[in-house]
Amino acid sequence: MGIFTSDKLDTLEELLEHELKDLYDAEHRITEPLPKMAEKATNPSLKKAFQNHLRQTEKHIERLNSVCEHRGIEPQREKCDAIVGLIKEGSEVLSAEGDNDVLDAALIAAAQRVEHYEIAGYGTARTFAQQLSDDYSAELLEQTLDEEKSTDQQLTKIAVGSVNPASAREQ
Ligand code: FE
Ligand code: FE
Repeated sequence: MGIFTSDKLDTLEELLEHELKDLYDAEHRITEPLPKMAEKATNPSLKKAFQNHLRQTEKHIERLNSVCEHRGIEPQREKCDAIVGLIKEGSEVLSAEGDNDVLDAALIAAAQRVEHYEIAGYGTARTFAQQLSDDYSAELLEQTLDEEKSTDQQLTKIAVGSVNPASAREQ
């Protein structure tokens, strides 16, 4: 979350709005590399996980639209510098060459950093909404939070179950 160069933050409502716009920007940015990551991945489960998560990410944007509408906020993007940086690092993997299994491991490493950022953002936003007794928004934000967590777990499973052992195999 870009910290407050222009905003004045006096209320938790304003801070939640800021968090929502940061996530809105992050989700839009993530839709760009995901298809390329699916393309680059060799492991079929990993390929599918990226494809599925692209569809989920589109749903995450829709939910943020609903939350903004419910709260009377214009759904705008506030540049999320953290995601810009994480995507930049990830794109280095996209242009890298080498062993397919090791490249898959690198894709997972990059993707999990993004998921952890989202988990932090959605966890925070959900908890702010709860504090503000906005159950509708809290529920939608938690649905996305749960999907980010399960994507993260799924990536761990693919890494530990197949990609990492394949990467470590003697050539
Ligand atoms: Fe997301
Ligand atoms: Fe995600």
